[in-house]
Amino acid sequence: MTISDPRSVVATPSFRGVSADLASVPPYPFAGLEAQAEALARQGRSVLRFALGDPDLPPPTPMLDALRESVSSPGIHAYSTSRGEPSLREAIASWMHTRFGVTVDPEHEVAVLLGSKEGLTALPRALLNRGESVAVPDPGYPAYIGAAMLSGLRVERFALDPAAAWSPDWSALPGRPGLAYLNYPNNPTGQTVERAVLREAVDAARSRGFTLAFDNAYSEITFGGAPAPSLLQIPGAREVGVEFHSFSKTFGVPGWRLGFAVGNADVIGALVRLKSQIDSGAATPLQRAAVRGLQMYRGPMRPAAIEERVAEYRRRSDRLVQGLEALGEQVVRPGGTLYVWQRVGGRSGAQYADDVLQRHGILLTPGSAFGSRGANYVRWSITRTEPEIELALTRLGNGHAVGN
Ligand code: PMP
Repeated sequence: MTISDPRSVVATPSFRGVSADLASVPPYPFAGLEAQAEALARQGRSVLRFALGDPDLPPPTPMLDALRESVSSPGIHAYSTSRGEPSLREAIASWMHTRFGVTVDPEHEVAVLLGSKEGLTALPRALLNRGESVAVPDPGYPAYIGAAMLSGLRVERFALDPAAAWSPDWSALPGRPGLAYLNYPNNPTGQTVERAVLREAVDAARSRGFTLAFDNAYSEITFGGAPAPSLLQIPGAREVGVEFHSFSKTFGVPGWRLGFAVGNADVIGALVRLKSQIDSGAATPLQRAAVRGLQMYRGPMRPAAIEERVAEYRRRSDRLVQGLEALGEQVVRPGGTLYVWQRVGGRSGAQYADDVLQRHGILLTPGSAFGSRGANYVRWSITRTEPEIELALTRLGNGHAVGN
């Protein structure tokens, strides 16, 4: 019997279905979208995939060199620790200082993560009790919701205001959450953040007594203007908050599953305590390569190797925005990230995305995947090459029928 033989999938009478907590969570949106594209591709249709934000540019050479060197070091393939290798935690602390002028203690205020998603989603389970609530921005990265629901927690959505550069109004936050997520540069809107918005978030967390989880996964992907801030640059932030970073986007290594959390020592301690029950740390050769990546920074500005990557993303983003606007579409101009957020008129984002997939073979993410306030939007990911962007614009422009 081969793996693909349907007889290999046997009925298991002892399987009683998934847990109630898992059943309560809506399916993760991107898996379904990719399946739709697959189905069309199997019919021989050409599909341009602009749904997933999966960085496509190769990692910087020094990181690959470090990986190659470290992989044959004695003892390197042993278990690491849930908190992360000391050398990487020290490099993270140095980077936080070089990049943001922020001092963190590598022993107590830093944790290495198996991708920032791992830490972001572990946090509610580490901090809150059943029945408590988690505040999640609408629109926002879908993983926050799944994380809360899997722990039997209530989700309170709070609106990001399109008229205020998609920033929150904390006075409208319902209930008394134990934890709130905030993310800038923002997925899906592409908006960057002013420090004043972070100050308001810290004030809200302090006065209302919640932990603030600031998702800074796109801190290095900004298009002009000042470098993106850190939450920890805001006075008092360390008392209420932690910040999450990702190697995936900055260095183009999403498959390495490497990120980190920095900030409040009690929260970092809780996260590491939970992680130690579940994982045994990231692969040490990858952590060594990550050290080399962080060491490329000599100041707050991006080093050349990162600057080149961001310049490419910016070219793509500018071209897509310009092309969509030329077609009469309404686009929210991004200040950074890997996304372009398009407002659609006259129908829902889901209908638009479905139509564009069926008629033009272009896979987009409906804005509703990020919350009800995204219902009239679609999200484009710019992790596709310029020729693919040109092709998508041409198809949209000339009413191309899929399969042509
Ligand atoms: N935060 C945001 C806002 C994201 O968009 C993503 C990935 N798309 C992540 C976190 C997770 O990134 P990773 O786990 O690869 O570090």
